[in-house]
Amino acid sequence: MPTQSIDPKTGTKLADPIIDSAASEVEEVVTRSAAAFIDWSEVAAKERASVLEQIATALDSNVDELAKLADQETALGVARLVGEVARTTFQLRLFASELKKGELLKEDLDEKIEGAPPQGRPQLRRSWVALGPVAVFGASNFPFAFGELGGDTASALAAGCTVVVKEHPAHPQLAQRVIELSQNAIVAAGFSKDILLSVRGFESGSTLVKHPLISACGFTGSQVAGKALFNLAVARENPIPFYGELGSINPVFVTENAAKNRGSEIASGFVGSFTLGAGQFCTKPSLILVPAASDFEAEALKAIDPLSFSTLLTPEIQAKFLKDVALVNSKTGVKTLLAPKPKADGFGVSIGLMSVSVEDFLANLHEISHECFGPVALVINYQNEAQLTRVAAQLDGALVTTFQAEVTQDQELLKQLVKIAKHRAGRLVLNGWPTGVAVTRAQHHGGPYPASTNVLHTSVGSYSMMRYLRPISYQDFPNELI
Ligand code: NAP
Repeated sequence: MPTQSIDPKTGTKLADPIIDSAASEVEEVVTRSAAAFIDWSEVAAKERASVLEQIATALDSNVDELAKLADQETALGVARLVGEVARTTFQLRLFASELKKGELLKEDLDEKIEGAPPQGRPQLRRSWVALGPVAVFGASNFPFAFGELGGDTASALAAGCTVVVKEHPAHPQLAQRVIELSQNAIVAAGFSKDILLSVRGFESGSTLVKHPLISACGFTGSQVAGKALFNLAVARENPIPFYGELGSINPVFVTENAAKNRGSEIASGFVGSFTLGAGQFCTKPSLILVPAASDFEAEALKAIDPLSFSTLLTPEIQAKFLKDVALVNSKTGVKTLLAPKPKADGFGVSIGLMSVSVEDFLANLHEISHECFGPVALVINYQNEAQLTRVAAQLDGALVTTFQAEVTQDQELLKQLVKIAKHRAGRLVLNGWPTGVAVTRAQHHGGPYPASTNVLHTSVGSYSMMRYLRPISYQDFPNELI
């Protein structure tokens, strides 16, 4: 089936359909990627850094064209998309600077000690080797930062891997333009464009994951797709690492003191965070636990314009959003405070808000606490602190858990909640909002399933590069042979 570029604001077709890659094309692309890997993996870290910097420059130089094209296909807004290009090129340059510093790729050396074990030992040098060609699946909601040239591609190239991208059908023209600009920069830097190739079409995705020459996968997207592709990766004759960064529900815990002192500010901050980017953030706070006796629901409703519509990325996302909200609404005790409505043209929806008690929430925990990808959230009203810790202990893995609390007054409660939540989230936020994800060395963007399929790694920040390198020990090898 060909891929059609569509304007989400109106639903109209933007260009001629783009033909999906045939199985023979996927085969050819992966073979070229594997051949290019042999040279690219041997390129010195500083030279790889320079290629990443040149790709960043190419994207920055074309930011206006890219943001305009992305806005046509995603309706995320030119200003936000210009910012996302900057985040993407910052990311490429961060990996370049890490490669130049070399600290992450540091080797461990155990000197030889003469004699028989246990005191004696050979010389051992623990170093790093790139995994091989990596298949990358970007998400629709961050067409740059988590897209074709997003963190997965940048970190894999930095590690010395070649990349085959599965282009996202929600922004097909942009995907091709970003790949083209990046390949031009790679060739201008003196390397083969085969270090970064791409394929199109649903079937091509699974063919890639199953291909024996693919050595790892980086995936950003939904839990359903991530789990399906993870299953393919581990069911191969030679199973490979599958780094899936998926959506999660990202709970917020509001203490009684915080609700009393800052109720209205917390309510408007929450609305701002769950409606950001039309609620299409993997870090969207989907649930908020508030004291039942507070005015939180009324304050949150005051912060929402019920007549404003935000545009979702695709008709599938719009239909799934309305279906998921209806499912949550159908559960016992769930009240609709504001029902999200579809817009007559395009893929717009209005903002939704629901509420439920702790007892009713826990009675249907798994159906109520799944991701509704779009601008909706659930307020959970608790009666006492014991209910807060009870909920914390039963929630699934999340990318982020947030606390709104008064640090001095709530110290004991916070300690208790952190003790539980640190086993269930990749990042804990205090008195902020989870939606922004800073690109730094200390960032961890991942977490226990279903937040990610590999709890050990991050998909954002410097350490994401380590997903595509494996340790290797050289025993009694002279330097000149390594
Ligand atoms: P998606 O529907 O899962 O699509 C992601 C990619 O997977 C697309 O290329 C899609 O291609 C492919 N795909 C989907 N189902 C598949 C299947 N069964 N087999 C093989 N390939 C399949 O996700 P999306 O709509 O682009 O992105 C939204 C989701 O991403 C949300 O859940 C959001 O929370 C999550 N997200 C997570 C992060 C993070 O860092 N954790 C960041 C951003 C977004 P086709 O359309 O061709 O099937």
